[in-house]
Amino acid sequence: MSVYPWHLPIWQRLQQAKADNHLHHALLFSGEEGCGNEAFLEAFANSLLCLNPADDGSACGQCRSCQVLISQAHPDFMAVKLLDDKQSILIDQIRELNYFLGLSRSYSLRRVVIIQPAERMNINAANSLLKSLEEPSADTHILLLTEHPALLLPTIRSRCQSVRLFLPTHQQALAWLQQHSLQHSVESLLETALGRPLAALALDSTDTLNHRTQWLAHLIQCLQGQGNITDISTQWEKFDKVQLLDWQFTWLKILLKQQAGDKNTPISPELRDLCAVLNQQRLFSMHDKLLELKKLSTHPLNPRLFVESMLILWQA
Ligand SMILES: [Zn+2]
Repeated sequence: MSVYPWHLPIWQRLQQAKADNHLHHALLFSGEEGCGNEAFLEAFANSLLCLNPADDGSACGQCRSCQVLISQAHPDFMAVKLLDDKQSILIDQIRELNYFLGLSRSYSLRRVVIIQPAERMNINAANSLLKSLEEPSADTHILLLTEHPALLLPTIRSRCQSVRLFLPTHQQALAWLQQHSLQHSVESLLETALGRPLAALALDSTDTLNHRTQWLAHLIQCLQGQGNITDISTQWEKFDKVQLLDWQFTWLKILLKQQAGDKNTPISPELRDLCAVLNQQRLFSMHDKLLELKKLSTHPLNPRLFVESMLILWQA
């Protein structure tokens, strides 16, 4: 079974719908990146096409259909994605898709299409898809995946059945990550990746976590009236200021949740140090001041001055 544990309930629900012949012709999956949602759609498409699926619905990997799908030559399957160097899914791609939907099936009992990221269809492409959604071809399933369902045309959304792919629970994400050999602490990785396990795994092989820990240590220094602001800001001026801000927002939100009594999300060891020196009142005021500062983050401000302004907030 190639489905991530946090996707199992949805998988089972969809397999049941398939078995009952109630599977909607257009499914709009939504969920955050970094949780394996693309893999889920691929596994589901594979399972719809397979000629001999297992009891749990997963594709056999052996049949004629599975074999041609592996070699990326399945005549009943089409994936519509962003073309290299393009920011949108274009109308020509959807025209090709509409043509494909007019062909007869050749290998499988169903025909399957994946469109992702669905919110990137430009207006012409989206309008062109509408017709196929309104007059579905027989035994055809169009699977759309998006991180931002609100960005899709309402007319597209209303013709699809919505399927929410939820974030894993902290325990599920932790258990999955612990199966890998990691160089960083699992909690720090998950915290930085905002609970998204595959994003957390990808972070493990980068320097991001080291930077983040060092930035936090510098903020704590400022908070405690230690460290030289000019020296510290020189060190960070070349860093992405939105990233530096976002880390601070994440920390403040986690600490605010903690102080509000949420004990379900364990915090990383480095954040515990911050927790020890910031009281609740200070947390709220820091959050407001950072929001003010965030408005300036898109201005072409001197980067060092911007970092200094952040540090001074912690020092005040
Ligand atoms: Zn198969």
